[in-house]
Amino acid sequence: MKSLPFFCRGEVIRGFGRGSKELGIPTANFPDSVVDNLPPDIRTGIYYGWACVGNGEVCKMVMSIGWNPYYKNTKKSMETHVIHKFKEDFYGEILRVVMVGYIRSETTFDSLEALIVAINNDIEEAKVKLELPEHRKLKDDNFFTSTASSFSDSATTTASTSQTIINGH
Ligand code: ADP
Ligand code: MG
Repeated sequence: MKSLPFFCRGEVIRGFGRGSKELGIPTANFPDSVVDNLPPDIRTGIYYGWACVGNGEVCKMVMSIGWNPYYKNTKKSMETHVIHKFKEDFYGEILRVVMVGYIRSETTFDSLEALIVAINNDIEEAKVKLELPEHRKLKDDNFFTSTASSFSDSATTTASTSQTIINGH
C-alpha cells in the first residue's frame, strides 16, 4: 500500500459499544472526520503501528479498519488497540497514530474464542514486526515528539487541514 506509513490524529470518541473492553481488548475510536480522510488505497483489515495518547509515551498498536454497522456498513470505522495497560479511559484525548503495515483482511469468526485468538495473534505479530529497524524508527518521528499544543489549532479545524499538516510534517 503506497500510503503507508500513514500518520493521523484525532479525538478519541465513544464507539459502538460492542464490548471490546469486556474481551480485554479495548479499541479507541476515531471520529468520522479522520476516517473520511483515509486515502483510497488503505483497505479494510488489521494494521499495526505506533500510537500515542495525549502527550504520553509512544506504544505499539493494532488497528482495525472495518465497516461500521451503525451506518449500515456504508461507512468505515477506525479502532485502535494500544498495546499498553492504561490506568483509566482516555475518551476526549487526542490519539496520534502511524499506521506502518498491514496484517490481514477482515474476517468473520465462528466464535468469540476464535476472534480473541486471532486478535492476540495480530498483537504478537505487531510486536515482532515493529522491532524491525525501519519500523522502529517511526516511533521516534517528530510527529510524536512535537507537543500536542503545537497542533491545537489544527485539532479544531477540519481533519483535512490537519491531515495536510501531518502528512507534510
Ligand atoms: P467504545 O465502544 O466506546 O470504543 P471500548 O470497549 O472499545 O468502547 O473501549 C474503548 C476505550 O477504552 C477507549 O476509548 C479508551 O478510552 C479506553 N482504553 C483503555 N485502555 C485502552 C487501550 N489499551 N487501547 C485502547 N483503548 C483503551
Ligand atoms: Mg472501541
